[in-house]
Amino acid sequence: MDNLQYMPNIPAAKTKRIVIIGGGFAGMKLTYKLANTGYQVVLIDKNNYHQFQPLFYQVATAGLAPGDISFPLRKAFKNEKNIHVRMTTVLEIFPDQNEISTSAGKLTYDYLVVAVGGDTNYFGNKNIQENAIPMKSVSEALFIRNKIIFNYEEALNIGDKYARQALMSVVVVGGGPTGVELAGALAEMKRFVLPKEYPTLDFSQMNVYLLEAGNKLLNGMSDKSSEMALRFLEELGVKVFLHTAVQDYDGTNILLADGTKLQSTTMLWAAGIKANFIPGLDEKMIGRGGRWKVDEYNKVEGYSNIFALGDLALMATEEYPNGHPQVAQVAIQQASLLANNLKAEIKNKTWKSFIYHDKGSMATVGKKLAVVDLPFIKFQGFLAWIVWLFVHLMAIVGVKNKFDVFMNWAWNYLSLDPSLRLLIRPKPVRQDKEAFPWK
Ligand SMILES: Cc1cc2nc3c(=O)[nH]c(=O)nc-3n(C[C@H](O)[C@H](O)[C@H](O)COP(=O)(O)OP(=O)(O)OC[C@H]3O[C@@H](n4cnc5c(N)ncnc54)[C@H](O)[C@@H]3O)c2cc1C
Repeated sequence: MDNLQYMPNIPAAKTKRIVIIGGGFAGMKLTYKLANTGYQVVLIDKNNYHQFQPLFYQVATAGLAPGDISFPLRKAFKNEKNIHVRMTTVLEIFPDQNEISTSAGKLTYDYLVVAVGGDTNYFGNKNIQENAIPMKSVSEALFIRNKIIFNYEEALNIGDKYARQALMSVVVVGGGPTGVELAGALAEMKRFVLPKEYPTLDFSQMNVYLLEAGNKLLNGMSDKSSEMALRFLEELGVKVFLHTAVQDYDGTNILLADGTKLQSTTMLWAAGIKANFIPGLDEKMIGRGGRWKVDEYNKVEGYSNIFALGDLALMATEEYPNGHPQVAQVAIQQASLLANNLKAEIKNKTWKSFIYHDKGSMATVGKKLAVVDLPFIKFQGFLAWIVWLFVHLMAIVGVKNKFDVFMNWAWNYLSLDPSLRLLIRPKPVRQDKEAFPWK
């Protein structure tokens, strides 16, 4: 750490410096709200863009392009003089020195806000981790799209019926909103898109499975919504297995806990989340799911100037003893309150505690079908789908992105023929020296 240089090109702060790690829902909201305030803000993310995770499944199933749901961080804050954006990975926190180390050097802070979200949890199963495909980033969603298209190109060249069936079938694990949305979109690809592209393949061989270890889909939503989601999926042709845990997977053979075997070269893992980890703090503050225990102001247990927000934060309350749900609204509301509290600090005003206002939840099951649970009303079907479309369109960052998503949705709806099925693969990566001669 002592040998590490300070990050260049960040002016020495004349005011207090807030370092925000993570440009997800929480980090973006907090940075927006701290623009033009009496703080210097440094926003750090390992990518140079914000990702709209709720629509990853549409990238994976060729409905949207990666750029439709990703927004450059630098563009978002280009007019804000007190905000500095850096693309680098944070490696460690040194709370005694009020410093962090990153792959671009070290940086001091007055306040540190950690909003690094979560990653896929395989619950310790190494074979599943090696062979299943996660969907926690836009690049993983794109990988799924390429894998499915590649499978179909391969299936045309294979004579063996069973090998072809394994290439054509997709298994989705996890019956939460991500699994339900993925399975519904895949079933629609089977129905409307793929048979037109691959007319010589027998699509009765393509199975879309959705496996859920619990006793219902969309756990956390109303019984009515989970029953309707099950019905909608079955009507679309998805084979839904409840009470079904995956025990092993070698890349083709899936072993279920009851001994049943399925075959697919594509198992999509949407079954678990664990918080991302940055070392350096006393690990006593790490709770269930790797989340960081925080107080009612999102202050990390045992530290006076370090905060955790969103999926990373574990704020145990009477209503949420295991922490709030890991959803976008919690991240946004916590960030918004922390920004107000940090602004109050400048004026020597008292801080407010976090209270979560649950605005409801929703999931789409396919074109024209969704389920919506609002605090005052629950409904399913076409109207729910319209509400789902509107809410997601409004939530996407950037006018251009909103327009692109709207146009893609309109095209896909009218033509039943999403146009994003190119299989573009990079050439083998050049040696570092060749690609970056100054290194
Ligand atoms: C497929 C999918 C679908 C979802 N659908 C919904 C939905 O429909 N509705 C809903 O409310 N929620 C949904 N969620 C959950 C929602 O996206 C999360 O709750 C939300 O993104 C949490 O926000 P966050 O700011 O805590 O973390 P994130 O949005 O995950 O942001 C974390 C950021 O930290 C960065 N980062 C991580 N580690 C480092 C590091 N070491 N150094 C620098 N940067 C780092 C990452 O690049 C990322 O930009 C979905 C999640 C997924 C994965």
